[in-house]
Amino acid sequence: MISLNDLTLSELENEITGLGEPKFRAAQIFSWFSKGISGFDEMSDLSKPLRQRLSENYGIRAAVIEKKLSSAKDGTDKYLLRLGDGNIIESVAMKYKHGISVCLSTQVGCRMGCAFCASALGGSVRNLSPGEILGQAAALQRDLGERISNIVLMGIGEPLDNYENVIRFLKNVNNPLGMNIGYRHISLSTCGLVDRIYDLAKENMPITLSVSLHAPNDEIRSKLMPINKKYPVAKLIAACREYTRITNRRISFEYILIDGVNDGETQAGELSESLLGMLCHVNLIPANPVTESGLKKSPPKRVEAFKNRLLRHRINVTVRRALGTDIDASCGQLRRKHKNAQQQQGWC
Ligand code: SAH
Repeated sequence: MISLNDLTLSELENEITGLGEPKFRAAQIFSWFSKGISGFDEMSDLSKPLRQRLSENYGIRAAVIEKKLSSAKDGTDKYLLRLGDGNIIESVAMKYKHGISVCLSTQVGCRMGCAFCASALGGSVRNLSPGEILGQAAALQRDLGERISNIVLMGIGEPLDNYENVIRFLKNVNNPLGMNIGYRHISLSTCGLVDRIYDLAKENMPITLSVSLHAPNDEIRSKLMPINKKYPVAKLIAACREYTRITNRRISFEYILIDGVNDGETQAGELSESLLGMLCHVNLIPANPVTESGLKKSPPKRVEAFKNRLLRHRINVTVRRALGTDIDASCGQLRRKHKNAQQQQGWC
C-alpha cells in the first residue's frame, strides 16, 4: 500500500487527481503531514467520504510519540517515537534563543559500526521512509506547540546510507506547503560516504554538511570508523573540498577528542594541514565516556592545546561542551540518547 506521506507534492498530485479529485486537494493533504497527524480521519478539511476512500486505498507512515524525557537542566526534550511496524526511534528537541532545533533519526539502528558510537552495537534494522523522518519533526512540533526552526540529521543512523529517502524528506520539509524549513536551517551529519557527498553537492540544496572526521589519518580513523577502509581520509577531504567549491557552503567537521587516541599535538598538526585553506569549521567534542569501548574523554588541558594548535593555523574551531546549556547540536545527548534507547527498548 502506498503511504501518501512518503510522496513529494507532485507525486501526491498525480495520485489524487488520478482519483478524480481536484489538484488542490493534494496540497491540503500534503499540509496535514506537517501537522503530526497519524490518520486520515484527522484531516478535518476533507469530506468524510474522501477521508474514507483515502484510508481504504492508502497508508500514512506515522511516528507517534511513545515517551518524552525532559531535561530540567538545559530545556532539552528527548522523545521515543513508535513507527507503524513497532520499531522505536528517537528524536531530540533543543531550545535556543533563535528557536527550536530538532535532531532526527534517519535509520532504525546503524550499520557503520563506529567504535565510539553505541548505536552501532545492534547493527541496522531498516531505513526510515521520507514520511517517517518528516513525521518525527511534525510530531515534535505538534507536541511543543511552537514552530521548529532548525533540523539536524544527526540522530540514529547514517543519512547518506539512506540517500533517496533523505533527499525526498529534504524536499518535503522545505516545501512552503509543508514545514517550510529553509535548506540553510538544515544540517546533515555523515561519517563520510564519499560517493554520496559528491551526489549531494549536485542536488542544489544549500544545507550544511557536517562530517564526522574524528581522526586526521587512516591509521587512527580506520580503527575508530570502519567506513574509512572504503573511503580513506584523503578521498574524504577531497570530496569535502569539492562540496564547498560547488555549494559555497562551509563544512562543519566533528572531531571527538578521545584520551590518548586522537588528541595529541601531532594529530592536531596533521588535521590542520589537511584542512588548510578550506571553507570549514571544526567542532571539538570531548568524547562522552564510552564504557562499551573503553574509550575515555580527553582531559581539558589537551583539549585546549588541540584547539590552540588549530587556531594557530587560522582554522575556525570551537569546543563543544558535552552537555549543558550551550549544546550546539546533539552529540553529547546522542550518546545518552543511544544509551537510553538501549536500556529502554533493547534494540541497539
Ligand atoms: N551517522 C552520522 C550521524 C549520526 S552520529 C554521522 O556519523 O555523522 C551524530 C554525531 O554523534 C557524529 O558526529 C558522531 O560521531 C557523534 N557521536 C557518536 N557517538 C559519540 C560519543 N560517544 N561521544 C560524542 N559524540 C558521539
